[in-house]
Amino acid sequence: MKIFAVLGDPVAHSISPLLHNKALLDLGINAAYVRFCLKNGSEIISKFKELKLSGANVTLPHKEWALKLSDEASSTAKAIGSANTLVLKNDKIHAYNTDALGFFKSISDFGKISSALLIGAGGTAKAISYILNQNGIRVEILNRSDEKLADFRQNFECFSWQNFTPKSYDLVINSTSAGLKDELLPAPLEILLPVLKQSKFAFDVIYGKKTPFLNLSKDCNLASKDGLGMLIFQAVLAFNLFFNEQFSQADIEKSMRSVI
Ligand code: NDP
Repeated sequence: MKIFAVLGDPVAHSISPLLHNKALLDLGINAAYVRFCLKNGSEIISKFKELKLSGANVTLPHKEWALKLSDEASSTAKAIGSANTLVLKNDKIHAYNTDALGFFKSISDFGKISSALLIGAGGTAKAISYILNQNGIRVEILNRSDEKLADFRQNFECFSWQNFTPKSYDLVINSTSAGLKDELLPAPLEILLPVLKQSKFAFDVIYGKKTPFLNLSKDCNLASKDGLGMLIFQAVLAFNLFFNEQFSQADIEKSMRSVI
């Protein structure tokens, strides 16, 4: 029997085992998906081998380690600088990033998007900015502090709260953790309100909660979405990588959505 796992710290809250085990069951695959709390990211590959895994999803804070220590990495994972999926193939561990495409698939029904304001400059912002840029969407980054913007300056116009002038965008994305465990907006109201009043769509990477960002977007009459679709699509894409693309994405998605 093949074993798969989500590796990270913490993993107790992760719904990946729920999603993947349902798809394994529905598709009649003799395999199990477990969770493993890994404290030290530098042990990610040794733990993968010790647990005799066929594949794994990697979550915070070990996505950079997963890329760095894998034997092979996809061009997308390399460009983003992190991997959330590891797959064993011919005794080698291959690293992929499905967060980026998962995000892009989840915004596909918004309609035409030419410009985006991406709020946040962490790991998730790297995946999102990469895929938007790859798809010809003009991206500007807004972050609370200046420090993390350094990684983005080469490819994107970047602003901190101090030097940003509000304007209109097709899509405004919250990729920060503001609103996850608190009731904070990802940027001050005086910045966010004029942006949202002139923009069309809003997306929050946080899921399972009406965040202050989503509530404000709704008040400004924007079509909006939380991060659940992104979470499901990254899982669907990872599942297909585990099984060499042999299942239909629609079947995997249907199965995973049935447990939410
Ligand atoms: P990082 O720690 O790498 O980055 C956090 C970012 O959020 C930084 O830019 C930080 O700004 C900013 N930030 C944190 N708190 C605040 C605040 N109170 N106000 C304004 N900005 C703030 O985190 P990740 O990028 O890895 O994760 C971000 C979020 O994405 C998490 O909530 C995570 O759960 C979610 N996520 C969702 C996924 C999905 O499938 N839906 C997939 C992956 C992640 P600064 O630089 O100033 O500190």
